[in-house]
Amino acid sequence: MDSVWGSYPPKTSDEQLDYLAQTVKDWTIFNGLTVRPNPSFIDDETNSNHVLATNAPVTLYPSPFPRKCFEQAQRLQALYNELYAAIASDEAWLGQIMQELVEVDDFLANLWKIHLQVKEEGYVQDLTLGLFRSDYMLHVPDEATAPSLKQVEFNTISSSFGGLAVRVARMHTELASFPRPGRSIAYPTHDLFGTASAAAFPPPNHAVETLVSGLAAAHAAYGSSKSTPALPTCILFLVQDKERNLFDQMALSTFIRTNNPDIPTFRLPVSKILAYTTIPSTSDSSSRPLIYTNPANSALRFEVSVVYFRALYAPTEYDTPSSWAARHHLERSAAIKCPSVLLHLSGSKKIQQVLTDTSSPILERFLPNTSKEDLEMLRSSFAPQYSMSDGPDSEGVKIALDSTRAESHVLKPQREGGGNNIYRSNIPTFLRSVPEKDYKQFILMELIQPPKAAKNVALRSDGQVVAGDVISELGIFGTCLWRSGNKGRDGMEVLQNGEGGYLLRTKARDSDEGGVAAGFSSLDSLILY
Ligand code: ADP
Ligand code: MG
Ligand code: MG
Repeated sequence: MDSVWGSYPPKTSDEQLDYLAQTVKDWTIFNGLTVRPNPSFIDDETNSNHVLATNAPVTLYPSPFPRKCFEQAQRLQALYNELYAAIASDEAWLGQIMQELVEVDDFLANLWKIHLQVKEEGYVQDLTLGLFRSDYMLHVPDEATAPSLKQVEFNTISSSFGGLAVRVARMHTELASFPRPGRSIAYPTHDLFGTASAAAFPPPNHAVETLVSGLAAAHAAYGSSKSTPALPTCILFLVQDKERNLFDQMALSTFIRTNNPDIPTFRLPVSKILAYTTIPSTSDSSSRPLIYTNPANSALRFEVSVVYFRALYAPTEYDTPSSWAARHHLERSAAIKCPSVLLHLSGSKKIQQVLTDTSSPILERFLPNTSKEDLEMLRSSFAPQYSMSDGPDSEGVKIALDSTRAESHVLKPQREGGGNNIYRSNIPTFLRSVPEKDYKQFILMELIQPPKAAKNVALRSDGQVVAGDVISELGIFGTCLWRSGNKGRDGMEVLQNGEGGYLLRTKARDSDEGGVAAGFSSLDSLILY
């Protein structure tokens, strides 16, 4: 490992670095590798009407990554897709786990309540779409050990950055190879950039094709209109009102418009769900089509085949009394949800902790037809995790309250989107401020130990260029479309299971949190070695 990082990234003079950073700035804007700026450096008033865009935070160089671990992450994806589809199809099992969480977590309690209400009325859609991203770090407990792959988390809602990750890989490839490999106008000559001795570029990134193939498969599986008279069908991208990462989403909708021009897509901000969509009261209660009216032309009405959630994953997004009503409205409709409430809940950190418990054959339960070798490969990607719901004498609670042992752990609540975890020595102090009966809202996880030698340089969205020691997190995208039977996981039928495309996010080594949108990481790509 160190031999790769010894001279990487290549040494540059200030002049060379300025030139490279400027080249990257221009490339990002020209190619839509962009975000709306954070108000911390351009306040919303100056950025009047939310019109300005800037470069997404990106690394100037791709990061070397062990080929063996990358390929293993790709092989794991189909297994993880099926595992989470099976969990979301097993309402009884999920219900047992939710039972203790709903007592201490209002957000999960509200989601679970929506599921129960729709179940009571009767679900009218038995298809679910998952657009997933499984996140990993390299684990190197000591210098003598080869790096292994450990899962940080599995995302079942709003799995983002496929659209921008594709562009970063393209940018790094172009910078390394223009005008030709080994003679780049942006990078100093370096073996990793494809000189005669090592022609290495980032692997092609098919994240957009992969995610769109999931959406298109769900759209096709929805079938024809259930309305009378029949309406054309469409896919709805459900987005946050003040989304900063819209260009990532537009990479997907633009790809659909170009390659699947018969599938209309629309962006619907959360605050407009109840204004622009209806379930006609006349429709017979066993169909409940979701009708979308286009605000530009109210004569344009569509029946929604798929609601793709790029929003409503965090409690702060449910900030008006109608937000929960809107989520309930979507859930009870006939549209295929990506994700359904059950799939959203299946991605809880608690579920991920329970899966690592080797005291019961839990993986065998959900993947009865999977080989022993594959189950072993799945298990080998788990980092140790502990329940916080088993009382003061349990291993998890003991570690969390011990300042020495807590140092190598992270405490996670049931939240998404970055910025929610408690790290290391902060854990005992934090926990002492929480009533013991509420510990069960968390899980405890051992910290993965990434390689120490990695370095890179990042161009932040405010134009700053920062160089230093870094930690990278690899995400692999996956899709799954399935039909849930009424017999839990036994009755489910997988219609599509896809893998493809990657995201590398790289952050400063001294930052515990990750997340690009949360402001910690930069988008990166990789060179396999
Ligand atoms: P979220 O759903 O909010 O993204 P994560 O579980 O991904 O939650 O945690 C956020 C960040 O915290 C990760 O991107 C990673 O940088 C860091 N992190 C989480 N778990 C671990 C771990 N076990 N070891 C090291 N870092 C971790
Ligand atoms: Mg997450
Ligand atoms: Mg994460």
